[in-house]
Amino acid sequence: MKDQLNCKIADKCGGCRYAGILYEDSLKEKEARVRELLGKFHGIEPIVGMKDPFHYRNKVHHVYYRKKDGTVCSGFYEEGTRKVVPAGHCLLEDAAAQKIIETSEKLIRSFRYTVYDETRKNGLFRHVLVRRGHATGEIMVVFVLTSPILPGKNDFVKALRAAHPEITTVALNVNARDTGMVLGDQTKVLYGPGRIKDRLSGLTFSISPSSFYQVNSPMTEKLYAGVAEFAALTGTETVIDAYSGIGTIGLSLAKRAGKVIGIELNPDAVRDAIGNAKANGIENARFFRGDAGAFLQGMAAEKEHADVVLMDPPRSGSTEAFMDAVIKVSPERVIYVSCNPETLSRDLQFFTEHGYEVKRIRPYDMFGWSEHAETLVQLSRGTLPV
Ligand code: SAH
Repeated sequence: MKDQLNCKIADKCGGCRYAGILYEDSLKEKEARVRELLGKFHGIEPIVGMKDPFHYRNKVHHVYYRKKDGTVCSGFYEEGTRKVVPAGHCLLEDAAAQKIIETSEKLIRSFRYTVYDETRKNGLFRHVLVRRGHATGEIMVVFVLTSPILPGKNDFVKALRAAHPEITTVALNVNARDTGMVLGDQTKVLYGPGRIKDRLSGLTFSISPSSFYQVNSPMTEKLYAGVAEFAALTGTETVIDAYSGIGTIGLSLAKRAGKVIGIELNPDAVRDAIGNAKANGIENARFFRGDAGAFLQGMAAEKEHADVVLMDPPRSGSTEAFMDAVIKVSPERVIYVSCNPETLSRDLQFFTEHGYEVKRIRPYDMFGWSEHAETLVQLSRGTLPV
């Protein structure tokens, strides 16, 4: 792949640190960064890159704003601020999602809806979230409004669907709070099932609006294949899938495991995971709602056993409560999937100080052109008693 990302808004947006250089060079730089942070634990395997690093994001989120001339536009927050940069034609976003958002801007104006003003803190339309199933093509559009009341909503949805018959579901989410969170707690389905399906690693997954789902599907398949390789299951193991989301990792390994136990905080995601196990005919996976640390501490107190712990925490990394419990449960292997090499480095320090050894480290470019690096790590229980 010899391309480079030539984006007119790269400077303002700040999302693509590697804009303007060759994709292959960006991979080398990312790999070097991972080596710098994690090289002290083990050698780094070559970074796994993308085949086509453009328009890979299956989830597109924009903030609406109104220009002085009355036109409705949308874009992203400038890095670290609440100032909106017009999205123009972002080269990472799914192209079908971009067209839908463009249409929504025109419709909001023609329906005379108000748009949220960040300074005055008033107006109805705040954000739009579009998700497209990479394998299925199913599309979910979620409008985030400050109020649950959208006058003429049926006509609005009808007009949107007329322009984009490919949309399979439309929902409203209400978020009147002035926090950094995009989605509020209340979601109302206006059309379709209120969720989309996608296929990944040979399984079908149903995804609710607030559930986490990896944004880069082709790379996710590669990452999960790496997880399977590092987990090296033989068919009998008890596997913990911690921070399990909608169950994607645990379910993709279930047929190679004795049983899978998933733990996840977001109740919608847990519900999705339970439904996904059922829909795929998987009977040896169970999912629980709760804090991963508290759940594992409970397992440790009950002296329950696990052979492999998979962990895929958010950017902030894991917690000492969780890792301390892992050490007590004492699985033979820990597979750590991380989207932040800095918190990963901190957590690996903890594991290696408590009897675990880092055996393999392999970075993946899940978020091409951006500064983010995904890293897969295999740890194994040392030979010394812990
Ligand atoms: N493994 C999944 C999801 C990873 S994202 C996948 O590959 O798709 C991280 C997940 O951790 C999110 O679903 C988030 O809701 C969940 N999470 C965040 N804090 C948590 C906690 N303290 N305990 C359990 N789950 C948590």
